Amino acid sequence: MDFALDAEQTALRKRVLEFAATLGAQAEQHDHDATFDRDGWRSCASFGVLGWAASPEYGGAGLDPVSLAVAYEALGRGCADNGLVFAINNHVFACLVYLIAHGTPAQRRRFVPRLCSGEMIGAHAITEYEAGSDILAMRTRAARTPGGYRLSGSKAFISNGPVADLYIIFARTSSDGPAQSALTAFIVPRDSPGLTVTREIQKLGLRGAPMGEITLDEVRVPAELVLGSEGDGYRIFMACADWERGFMSASQVGVLERLLTSTVAFARSRQQFGRPIGEYQGVREKVADMRVRLELARLLLYKVAWLKARDRIALPEAGMLKLYVSEALKQTALDALQIHGARGYTTESAIERELRDVLGGTVWGGTSEMQRSLIAGVTGLPRPVSSNHREPL
Ligand SMILES: Cc1cc2nc3c(=O)[nH]c(=O)nc-3n(C[C@H](O)[C@H](O)[C@H](O)COP(=O)(O)OP(=O)(O)OC[C@H]3O[C@@H](n4cnc5c(N)ncnc54)[C@H](O)[C@@H]3O)c2cc1C
Repeated sequence: MDFALDAEQTALRKRVLEFAATLGAQAEQHDHDATFDRDGWRSCASFGVLGWAASPEYGGAGLDPVSLAVAYEALGRGCADNGLVFAINNHVFACLVYLIAHGTPAQRRRFVPRLCSGEMIGAHAITEYEAGSDILAMRTRAARTPGGYRLSGSKAFISNGPVADLYIIFARTSSDGPAQSALTAFIVPRDSPGLTVTREIQKLGLRGAPMGEITLDEVRVPAELVLGSEGDGYRIFMACADWERGFMSASQVGVLERLLTSTVAFARSRQQFGRPIGEYQGVREKVADMRVRLELARLLLYKVAWLKARDRIALPEAGMLKLYVSEALKQTALDALQIHGARGYTTESAIERELRDVLGGTVWGGTSEMQRSLIAGVTGLPRPVSSNHREPL
């Protein structure tokens, strides 16, 4: 086993850290106003961030999975605007990778270069108000028509929803038969007649990544924009879940490191009772635990990347990673706030924003409870059952 990065990966990490430090100067403002950083988006596009995962043939950099993890970890570590990083992660790992992994050559040629260049912003739409963890309970329907489908329904809590140009939308194409073939994934451009972003949803954190509700009123989708085949939706969703859960965790590992570093600096300089607070046991233990969480999170991240580099399925590992990183980040942000005392609690420090930003991590991409349930399922316990389909998922 070799836990070291090679020279190229080390140089990539350094380059991305330097670039990421140029982003996020307006993070506080974007958080306050809930605005999407279009300039930051364009800078990331020019630097190549949006195309790291795609092959050069489609305008990307074709990074291998370990280098991808290195790059997105460094982006999360260096960019203070977690909302912008979250928007990028959704664009790449919840939209672009679907097209890379399951698109036809024609679909890839049409959309991947424009997603890599940042000309198009991507989103994915699965969740509905009545179908969250239980995605197979979704009611959005796709009715077959000559030459395509008509989609009707609505989607909720869609990251990038209000600003996206392209959506991967999941809809029901069958109401009976096995769960695994009830859904189909569709590639839907924003300007499709009948698709409306009904409202923007305000949230606690990650406010620089706009979230929205989408209504589909008989939206016509031609057959050539079906992703995979009819009935493949659930299989595609699960096949991309290790990318989404695994690689969206990379930037969060970067945030773990940023919180640790800034907390250590504070604990060294802040004096109480005539000594730096970093000399007191209560503070040292918290910092030690923050460090252990960072190391464990990183090990899990690179295990997932290592598996993907070998074209292996990494679903259980990505679920463990997602669960561990999001919970670790929550605890680490709480510890950072505690160590920063009143300063950490005020809006004058970045710590309270970091805390609000990390809280969504235990919900998006499948809640911690659902990850635990899936992990228990692959460890020999019975699997969860959807309300609409009685067989285990
Ligand atoms: C920041 C953010 C970004 C998001 N972005 C997107 C996006 O881009 N696209 C998209 O489609 N969706 C998105 N979502 C929605 C997200 O995927 C859902 O919120 C999530 O799947 C949970 O669904 P829910 O909120 O309806 O909660 P519910 O499923 O109603 O769950 C409520 C509570 O019950 C628990 N629970 C439910 N079922 C079980 C069970 N079987 N066992 C144990 N506990 C259970 C849950 O863990 C949770 O604690 C986003 C959410 C957030 C917070």
